[in-house]
Amino acid sequence: MATPEMLSTRITNMAESATLAMAAKAREYKAKGINVIGLSLGEPDFKTPQHIQDGAKAAIDEGKYFAYPPVNGYLDLREAISAKLKNENGLDYAPDQIVVSNGAKQSIANVFQAIINEGDEVVVFSPFWVSYSALIELAGGIPVYVKGGIEDDFKATASQLSAAVTDKTKAIIFSSPCNPTGSVFTKEELEAIAKVVIENDLVAIADEIYEHINYSGAHASIGAVEGMQDRTVTVNGMAKGFAMTGWRVGYIGAPLWLAKACSKIQGQFTSANCGIAQRAAYTALTTDLAPTKAMAEEYLRRRALVKELLDEIPGFKTNVPQGAFYFFPDVSAYFGKSTGDKTISNASDLSMYILENAHVSVVTGEAFGDPDCIRISYAASEEDLRTAIARIKEALSKLS
Ligand code: GLU
Repeated sequence: MATPEMLSTRITNMAESATLAMAAKAREYKAKGINVIGLSLGEPDFKTPQHIQDGAKAAIDEGKYFAYPPVNGYLDLREAISAKLKNENGLDYAPDQIVVSNGAKQSIANVFQAIINEGDEVVVFSPFWVSYSALIELAGGIPVYVKGGIEDDFKATASQLSAAVTDKTKAIIFSSPCNPTGSVFTKEELEAIAKVVIENDLVAIADEIYEHINYSGAHASIGAVEGMQDRTVTVNGMAKGFAMTGWRVGYIGAPLWLAKACSKIQGQFTSANCGIAQRAAYTALTTDLAPTKAMAEEYLRRRALVKELLDEIPGFKTNVPQGAFYFFPDVSAYFGKSTGDKTISNASDLSMYILENAHVSVVTGEAFGDPDCIRISYAASEEDLRTAIARIKEALSKLS
């Protein structure tokens, strides 16, 4: 008889994506008729801008995009990405150094599969996005964490990186703006990190998916630091800046040898990304950024509102995130508190308590490398944010 024991050790040991698991739990509650407000998933509440939808519709009507696209993406889309990376980020990736994938998550998975041998180490700047560690381990690698605390705006430093490097270290990965903390590395900080990367002959994987949601001024790319272009994989995609999460279009710019390897892997796993989604991405990248900028302005307004509301919750410690659309409050003041027979021991308990009692979904910080925190997405309407945070405050007031 076929049984679950037949599953591979690799998959049995793999953690489930905490962001997606919490979103699924919220859906379960909703299906039972419970009015859950979802602040767990990093999902823009805006619709994909109309002109991008129209680009996809036109592509369907043209009837030219129904066959298998080239594995690494249509040439004109890769040309548009190459131009975007040049003009907006000062990066030099030729179109054959671009690989378009089914979301930035697949882009990152491809890169790890391409460079990690069993036992290789990858330094992960922590707090980190949940899937980095799972994808490194799936490729046989070992994530090594360098951690920034809330008092340092959650930013680990170049000297921490330097101390973490061993002769097994192959690469580093970080996101800026950061998911889950919203922190943004400055150009100077990236230069210091780049120096360590170059000295130790590493690959840098820079996840820039929140590039357009940056309140701190110009976005800086580590790949643009002198000496870094040939050792940097720049990861980006359409999901966050263009409200296109479900279209699943991510991409990398990488050294040619690595881009070719990613394409080879993708050719065996999934082939190309959906042709019509690629046409939508092409439209987005070849028209102006006005809708993207309008969304970013709205997120900035919500950040101010959410900061004010979270600061009214006793025991929540927050910083001011400089980008993305998350708060990552330290909630450890609630650990050890109880109501009835329920005691809150950690951030996972607290997020479940919030889901069950406030009917708001958030994600435990444990999954992001900081067990004192929870992640709250503010990619939601002002009304939902006000109601959700009021409900959280009320539910927490019952703990003593
Ligand atoms: N990247 C988003 C998040 O962190 C989407 C969910 C996921 O793929 O993890 O919430």
